[in-house]
Amino acid sequence: MMLLSRNTWRCMIYIAVFISMSLCDVVAKPRIVTTIKPLAIIAASAVGDAASVEYLQSPGQTGHDLHLVPSMLTQLESADLLLRVDQHFEHRFAGYFETVPSERVLTASQLGLHWPEPATAEKDEHGLERDLHFWLNPANAEVLAAAIQTHLGLPLTRLIEPAQMRDYRAALAPFKNARYLTHHDAYGHFRTAFDLSAAPSFRDAGGGQRGISSHYDLRESALRSPPSCLFVEPQLLTKAARQFAKSHNLAVIPLDPLGTDVTLGIAAYSKFIDGLVGQFKQCFLPTP
Ligand SMILES: [Zn+2]
Repeated sequence: MMLLSRNTWRCMIYIAVFISMSLCDVVAKPRIVTTIKPLAIIAASAVGDAASVEYLQSPGQTGHDLHLVPSMLTQLESADLLLRVDQHFEHRFAGYFETVPSERVLTASQLGLHWPEPATAEKDEHGLERDLHFWLNPANAEVLAAAIQTHLGLPLTRLIEPAQMRDYRAALAPFKNARYLTHHDAYGHFRTAFDLSAAPSFRDAGGGQRGISSHYDLRESALRSPPSCLFVEPQLLTKAARQFAKSHNLAVIPLDPLGTDVTLGIAAYSKFIDGLVGQFKQCFLPTP
């Protein structure tokens, strides 16, 4: 065996210690895995560089279609913290979440959130009565962000400053009583946050189709008092909604509740709300 000098040994020990410390740094960074992208947008803004954030939802998939596939198990098992909306929202994951120790899971709907008045008393196919798209109200996103920061022992910081919120409210104030339609009943939290009027929709809060009578009501209401546009969640736009917009001469405007184009990072949530405020205003711009 080759004899190594004392200095060589010392050097090798230093290198080994350095490598293991570096590995510890990587291992020590907590991993957050969320079911849908909006939760990852909030988490990434809440933790900055202090944790890694991933989500399970794939592009083009609505939050309501999410289901467990075997390739997700490694991701879920290796997470230090799992985030979900509600057992009824990611209902196809309910069985899996029952097997996870409760200290590794944050369920947003169990935090002290603000809930809007329902736009309709109708239940959806999963028995939901509440609009669970809570993340569209920045006050709710702040509640979840604070819960994540507390869980990880991080200082409490805001996602959006109050002055910025005042600017958004002022920007949307002229449209307070404006009439519009939505494709999916997903915007109750958004209209509560910015004091906007309620709107009829083609699909219920769970993303399911409404019955024929609801479509008839929608048509009657559009004829009685014409809306300015139809807001659509790009992943859920149906042929029926497109035809309805065409026959009533309505512009179809994307209002994306999932932040499809938002890049994860510390400013992700404020960019997400900024984008929604801009998209909402598009409905009421004068047609050229
Ligand atoms: Zn939805």
